[in-house]
Amino acid sequence: MTTTTSTDTIAHWVDGALYAPAGSATAPVTNPATGATTGAVLLADAPAAARVIAAAAAAAPGWAATSLARRTQIVFRFRELLNARKTELARIITSEHGKVHSDALGEVSRGQEVVEFACGISHLLRGGFSPSASTGVDVHSRREPLGVVGIISPFNFPAMVPMWFFPIAIAAGNAVVLKPSEKAPSAALWLAQLWQEAGLPDGVFNVLHGDKAAVDALLDSPDVAAVSFVGSTPVAEYVYTRASAHGKRVQALGGAKNHMVVLPDADLDLAADAAVSAGYGSAGERCMAISVLVAVDPIGDELVARIAERTRGLVTGDGAAGGTGGTGGHAGTDRESDMGPLVTRAHRDRVADLVAQGEAAGAKLVVDGRGVEPRGDAAGFWLGPTLFDQVTPDMPIYTEEIFGPVLSVVRVPSYAAALELVNGNPYGNGTAIFTADGGAARRFENEVRVGMIGVNVPIPVPVAYYSFGGWKRSLFGDTHAHGTEGVHFFTRAKVVTTRWPDPASRSGGGLQLGFP
Ligand code: NAD
Repeated sequence: MTTTTSTDTIAHWVDGALYAPAGSATAPVTNPATGATTGAVLLADAPAAARVIAAAAAAAPGWAATSLARRTQIVFRFRELLNARKTELARIITSEHGKVHSDALGEVSRGQEVVEFACGISHLLRGGFSPSASTGVDVHSRREPLGVVGIISPFNFPAMVPMWFFPIAIAAGNAVVLKPSEKAPSAALWLAQLWQEAGLPDGVFNVLHGDKAAVDALLDSPDVAAVSFVGSTPVAEYVYTRASAHGKRVQALGGAKNHMVVLPDADLDLAADAAVSAGYGSAGERCMAISVLVAVDPIGDELVARIAERTRGLVTGDGAAGGTGGTGGHAGTDRESDMGPLVTRAHRDRVADLVAQGEAAGAKLVVDGRGVEPRGDAAGFWLGPTLFDQVTPDMPIYTEEIFGPVLSVVRVPSYAAALELVNGNPYGNGTAIFTADGGAARRFENEVRVGMIGVNVPIPVPVAYYSFGGWKRSLFGDTHAHGTEGVHFFTRAKVVTTRWPDPASRSGGGLQLGFP
């Protein structure tokens, strides 16, 4: 398999080959740990997008007609190749996103889980059969692929988020156009080449690079039957509105502000470890990151002290395997990086500005990451882990999705106040409760209005055979990603009612003008 090198133009992938139309606009791709421009990704205009969508539309009928056994064999081969080569993919992710190598490997593994789930899709595509539903009449159901589906993904999980969708879409018999983030586009090309090696027919999996113009082409095209989007809330809402206005099936997963509630009876060391891991892992650039810690009186002082101690010990640096960073491990004298840089200089500057706004609004800045001394090139987009205490819900650091390594502690007097805060937030992606009381945890599970809940688990990303999705402004559309909901999203149902009169007593049906 050939992979694009970091200095190449990053082209589209269509009909099993790179596609670089002359005169394309491009956007620079950077390595966030060095600040260096490493590539130029093509930005599709409408004709380029039409070419890619047309290839998918041409391939879709043949793939839909391919036997289920053959389709799942190819998915299984893709899983074997991915498992054998996941380090290559993780390196690509680190080089464009900045997350440390161990975290990138974890991302690939979580995506691989969905591939493994899709290998068993036959069971979920089985229809029902009801013999003799009426005299001489049988009824059966079947699920069929939709045709071409568009997947539009964010920068923060260049491999896992596309893999929430495409293994199931492909196993179900659809053709895919993936529009990855222009900030981290190379993982998609690597995955496309892996599909080819696994034996997927050309045209079934295509990559369309670009920005709003490429997205709009997918949303408007009559050849695209469904769109799976993951990204920020304003764009998710836009994608949902525009694609559904064109009659498409849409699932649009948006932003988040995830609260972790710590009750006074919780194990405070467990809670502090969880808050630091979930707040600063991947530099806070995870839609399931904990960004608000809700400390229920009277544990605030003690909990903040334990979190601050751990936060000050984190190493921020280049996360490339074999570089100045490494596997993100903790022990040892030659300590490796726990956390990498932010994805772009502009994003780092925005997060630093929000930290300044938090200070100006009167929050207590316990750990300030702005002066971090990174283990890595000074030109990287660094911002160290930052901890605020005494944050109130009117402050910008509470109301904004920061998407960086900034953890805000809000103190509340009671469980009821904690619940009110979580339920009053416009986002509803993930939340967690830390407690030693099973009854309190159960009550929280019943009362909280959020899609994914952790009990003593800070990042409750569901396993592949359950479905991933938030509530409120974290999801537009009603279908979550992967699991059985994913299978339903990428297929549609037919119900067939059949009458075969018994040849021994065939006597015509007789006229029946009433409703049967
Ligand atoms: P983004 O919304 O900027 O971009 C997402 C995708 O939309 C990209 O492919 C981008 O090219 C495209 N896009 C950007 N602006 C557009 C526009 N105006 N019109 C049409 N398309 C546009 O998001 P991002 O910065 O790449 O990713 C971070 C965001 O994604 C955060 O808000 C995070 O919470 C969210 N996210 C959510 C989940 C989830 O499961 N809910 C998972 C991962 C990330």
